[in-house]
Amino acid sequence: MKCIECGGTMKTRRENYRYDASGLPVTLGGVEVSRCPKCGAHEVAIPHLEELHRVIALAVISKNARLAPQEIRFLRRFLDWSGAELARHLGVDASTISRWENRQQAMGPVADRLLRLIVGCRQPERTYTVEKLTEVRAAPAKPVRIGVREAKGTWRADAA
Ligand SMILES: [Zn+2]
Repeated sequence: MKCIECGGTMKTRRENYRYDASGLPVTLGGVEVSRCPKCGAHEVAIPHLEELHRVIALAVISKNARLAPQEIRFLRRFLDWSGAELARHLGVDASTISRWENRQQAMGPVADRLLRLIVGCRQPERTYTVEKLTEVRAAPAKPVRIGVREAKGTWRADAA
């Protein structure tokens, strides 16, 4: 394997790698890192990136302490949402998202839980689309009628 910086021959070995690109203090154990002994450049091979991000997101939403600013940003990017999109889902101003992510304002406990819930529902369960949250209105709180039936060994609900 040739170094793209200087053309030198890179040496590859497995090592623990700090995954700074995540913006979080994440260390990947035993990934293949190729280093150029000539110029010091390195390349890392991270397999199954989507699964990795899912596992990190799950670890973040499983913690008991409040979400930190960089965790909020990671979860938003994991959802592939802009600040405006997250704002729409949580029912806050886009400027609020920016203040949460830049340590200017603490995220409240309700938004904290809601963001965790959105992330938790996103993978692998897809029967509830989080896009539904943008449709929540301040309409009268009347219970929705739900018909449940068994089909092919599983329960299915039809909400009217
Ligand atoms: Zn090099």
